[in-house]
Amino acid sequence: MTAALRNGVRVRGLRRVFGDRTVLDGVDLDIAPGEFVALLGASGSGKSTLLRALAGLDGSGSGEVDVPGGRAVVYQEHRLLPWSRVWSNVVLGLRGRDLRERAEAALAEVGLAARADAWPLTLSGGESQRVALARALVRTPDLLLLDEPFGALDALTRLNAQALVADLWAEHRPAVLLVTHDVEEALLLADRALLLAGGRIAREYTVGLPRPRSLDDPEFIALRRDL
Ligand code: ADP
Ligand code: MG
Repeated sequence: MTAALRNGVRVRGLRRVFGDRTVLDGVDLDIAPGEFVALLGASGSGKSTLLRALAGLDGSGSGEVDVPGGRAVVYQEHRLLPWSRVWSNVVLGLRGRDLRERAEAALAEVGLAARADAWPLTLSGGESQRVALARALVRTPDLLLLDEPFGALDALTRLNAQALVADLWAEHRPAVLLVTHDVEEALLLADRALLLAGGRIAREYTVGLPRPRSLDDPEFIALRRDL
């Protein structure tokens, strides 16, 4: 394996069965280091199951799953611990020196330096998702897994959060897999969009640079038609 590929994702023939239901039926997927990939698909098509496999949270599938060691996940629900202050949530489970400083630096990147000592229950939904992003960032992941991270946010908060993710990605360049229902979001943020259907990657759209893209882009029109 070349150095350039070392921190990429390579999945071959991934199968995951629940009872008599085959949810993933031979998924092949590559994500290059620093690439931003969106994963689209109907509800129940297995997007979160695939993301969990990449996160290393589900070892029960079969097939080949080769992912970088440094991974971080952001879910639709922020999953902050209400009894830990914001900064402490950011570095939860980490060890080492200067945890407070590291948390503050990550919070500054998401515009929440002033809320380090706040309790999670005093934050808005958008702020909570920013803390969840800071918690991912502080781990300096090679692969950032985002499972419909903006799904619970109102429209304006979602736009701000999308812009923040775009900025953070440009700054840190982890590989990203973004699970989303939202075609516009995929087009706005991703280099490529994949459609998960029938337990496989059924289509791939090379949405391509530069951003922002035109809604007249033929790939965009094809993508909307297929969904
Ligand atoms: P998506 O994220 O695309 O909406 P999921 O990956 O969450 O879909 O789920 C895909 C299918 O797998 C669904 O039918 C769901 O009920 C089933 N499933 C997911 N996780 C489990 C589980 N732990 N046990 C049984 N069935 C599951
Ligand atoms: Mg899901």
